[in-house]
Amino acid sequence: MADDPHEAPARRPLPRGALDTGPDGDGTRPRRALMDILHALPVGVEIYDGDFNAVFFNKAADDLFLYKEQVVFHHDDWWELGFPDPKVRAVVIAEWEQVLAQARKVPGSVQSGEWDVRCRDGQQHNVRFRFCFLGDIYVFVLFDITEQRRLEAELRRLANVDPLTETFNRRRFVTEADAAFAAWRRNRRDFALLMLDIDHFKAVNDQHGHGIGDDVIRLVASRCQRAIREGDVLARMGGEEFAVLLPDTGEADARRVAARLTESISATPLAIDSLRLPVGVSIGGTTAGDADEDLDAVLRRADRALYAAKNAGRGRVMFYAVG
Ligand code: GH3
Ligand code: MG
Ligand code: MG
Repeated sequence: MADDPHEAPARRPLPRGALDTGPDGDGTRPRRALMDILHALPVGVEIYDGDFNAVFFNKAADDLFLYKEQVVFHHDDWWELGFPDPKVRAVVIAEWEQVLAQARKVPGSVQSGEWDVRCRDGQQHNVRFRFCFLGDIYVFVLFDITEQRRLEAELRRLANVDPLTETFNRRRFVTEADAAFAAWRRNRRDFALLMLDIDHFKAVNDQHGHGIGDDVIRLVASRCQRAIREGDVLARMGGEEFAVLLPDTGEADARRVAARLTESISATPLAIDSLRLPVGVSIGGTTAGDADEDLDAVLRRADRALYAAKNAGRGRVMFYAVG
């Protein structure tokens, strides 16, 4: 074994005949070719005997699990390195034992699973494994799918979040508001909706350019976010229009939140470079009522209230009661 296990793959006990290809001349050439192929594979391959002692690890498996502090040859010794947190480790081992029992029950079946596991580089990786029993040998194949999982999470985020303001987008807002409407129908849990639109925003774009316009949208979003509670849902519905879902909130409280939003956004001009831009907003609000067939009916009423606030001169809140 090399002194520094990071220098070269070192977890390689003798194959004990497990990988022999049988007599062929002296039998060593095909075996070496097979070993070379196993080491060149872009997936981790680990082979254990019937007592879970390591028989073979290929290079990709070493790249994942050849820990600096300890080289392990028995699978059970590995858990502590891969899952240093004892609580997490207990859960993972319990799951593993289930998979193992299943593999023993159905000989020849391929079992699979996924670990969020600490690897050789000290980082957590998403590692997908598949394994099966070949006689009394266990063969594991390991795929590092960290990058794939990261991309999936990023796609999920992009599907829900508006890239300019980092608030939720319309799609996510409707999902959240649908859930609030269902809870209201089922359990009469109140909720309120506010629609908010920046006043005379076109003039900002026209006078200062689209980039400054974008900054205004971003800053208004962050002032909104600071003015609401943790459980409230802020979303950019498009352009310079935002919506706020207020769970467990009746009309009186929703009016107070709307007034606070107007105040937080408009009290001081926005500072963008050397500019000081005053910004006003109009807000339309409503709550759900018995006559509302679906969420759309509530959204339409909030939109009408916003339109009325604009028509009444902007810079104000209009609340449309149910009915
Ligand atoms: P009102 O007081 O009636 O709301 O007037 P307004 O000027 O705010 O509204 P209007 O609907 O006339 O203009 C909205 C403008 O917002 C038009 C559009 O070019 C601009 N806009 C939409 N999306 C974006 C964006 O992402 N960035 C920027 N900078 N401008 C946007
Ligand atoms: Mg506007
Ligand atoms: Mg608008």
